[in-house]
Amino acid sequence: MLGRLARYLRFLGHDTLFACDLGLDGPGEDTRLLHLAADEHRILLTRDHELARRGGVLVPDGDVLDQVAALVREGVVEPVLSLDRCSRCNTLLRPATENEAGTCPHAQRPEQGRLLWCSTCRQLYWLGSHVDRLTERLDQVARMAGPPRG
Ligand SMILES: [Zn+2]
Repeated sequence: MLGRLARYLRFLGHDTLFACDLGLDGPGEDTRLLHLAADEHRILLTRDHELARRGGVLVPDGDVLDQVAALVREGVVEPVLSLDRCSRCNTLLRPATENEAGTCPHAQRPEQGRLLWCSTCRQLYWLGSHVDRLTERLDQVARMAGPPRG
């Protein structure tokens, strides 16, 4: 349910694991998730009220921008793009080599954006004009979240 939120948190540079990818499902899943979060000093985000009560942070209903805004209000994240992680798999990205950039048309125009590479997915990322749109969405999130608390 929180797959889109996981991708957004990776856009923000957070080391984000997605429970569905961990293979912890089955009886006792909640307890295993709580232990994993404690062991790895992670914040457990959940839609489940009971799990939130046991040590997670409750993510509200709504679209992904509402959810990010709620986490900004809670002080869990800041609405600032980082784009140094693969949004699919969480691997840190690095600049693409000429070989990896291959025939990507953007490789010919480095002034229009950077090309990064995920060595796990073997996926090329182009940080071009769509980054401006993401930045706009995060500005919107910051307005939704309001001034920081305290
Ligand atoms: Zn990846």
